[in-house]
Amino acid sequence: MNITFFSSKPYDQQFFNEANAEFGHQLRFLEVPLNAQTAVLAQGAGVVCVFVNDVVSEPVLHQLADNGVRLVALRCAGYNNVDLKAAAALSLPVVRVPAYSPYAVAEHTLAMILTLNRHTHRAYNRVREGNFALTGLMGFDLHGSTVGLIGLGTIGIVTARILKGFGCRVLGYDIRPTAECQEIGVELTDLDTLYAQSDIISLHCPLTPQTHHLINEESIAKMKSGVMLINTSRGAIIDARAVIKGLKSEKIKYLGLDVYEEEGDLFFEDLSGKVIQDDVFMRLLSFNNVLITGHQAFFTTNALNGIAHITLQNITDFEQGKSLVNAVPFEKSPPMTV
Ligand code: NAD
Repeated sequence: MNITFFSSKPYDQQFFNEANAEFGHQLRFLEVPLNAQTAVLAQGAGVVCVFVNDVVSEPVLHQLADNGVRLVALRCAGYNNVDLKAAAALSLPVVRVPAYSPYAVAEHTLAMILTLNRHTHRAYNRVREGNFALTGLMGFDLHGSTVGLIGLGTIGIVTARILKGFGCRVLGYDIRPTAECQEIGVELTDLDTLYAQSDIISLHCPLTPQTHHLINEESIAKMKSGVMLINTSRGAIIDARAVIKGLKSEKIKYLGLDVYEEEGDLFFEDLSGKVIQDDVFMRLLSFNNVLITGHQAFFTTNALNGIAHITLQNITDFEQGKSLVNAVPFEKSPPMTV
């Protein structure tokens, strides 16, 4: 099939070209993101392949369908950027990569927790400048601390397993918990208990209307003083302004973000030397107990291999009229309207 990729980077081209030796599709890589201005570039493609910050809204879907696109293939797990209702009305199936390497994201979560706790990001700079003083670098044992995980799906469960290996007490909240949670020793609880008892809270639920700004002034008020908050899921699960207040009052002692609500204007681009206009983002960067990475939790060779193979298999299944095992059903979640 003719596949047009939006928001493609050199690493997408490398991994998809390699994987495509097995599938034989025609791949066209565009660097521009998909939105109402660029949708016209899909002309001639049967499939568009999009990523986390591409805009797959109702008007964009109409343009894609008018241009002959018959399938939207997400090369990611999350689908909050797609208007699924509009896609269903246009009979445009949407496929995704539900699981490629949960280890990539779970391990990045741990990297953030360990960095923030032991201040290795600051120690690295200090030592290079000949400053071997330890003041300000004190951490705490992860062993014995309580970690609350919101969302215990593929990534949340792997994160829980790793944390249990560290000797943590793991609390978990999920609207549809699986039996595996209890098998691995996660204590299922309600959100208020999780907020009240956790030393570290890590988000692994999808962005839906129910989880939009789940972390807000009210929920932060219920948390332990000195809590560590980690978000490797989707930016808009956190109200960044409320979190800034929490950092200023020192209620939140550490913050690790791999995702940010307005990341579409920033992430995946080299903006060094440019003036960043987002004042909320710049305020977050001004705290030395805030660690931000640019949506890189998925970014391992294993994950990119998995993403390329599963995406191309999804497209081949569509071409051959097979059932789409990785289709996102409309009922799965209503589209984000915020
Ligand atoms: P998953 O679908 O396997 O698990 C999500 C879990 O969240 C499910 O168990 C579901 O029941 C639960 N959930 C849904 N609504 C909830 C709510 N309101 N409250 C609590 N729990 C709720 O998804 P996954 O593969 O584990 O991925 C989780 C999220 O991680 C994705 O939605 C995606 O946004 C994000 N992600 C980020 C990166 C990255 O690079 N930073 C990479 C992959 C995925």
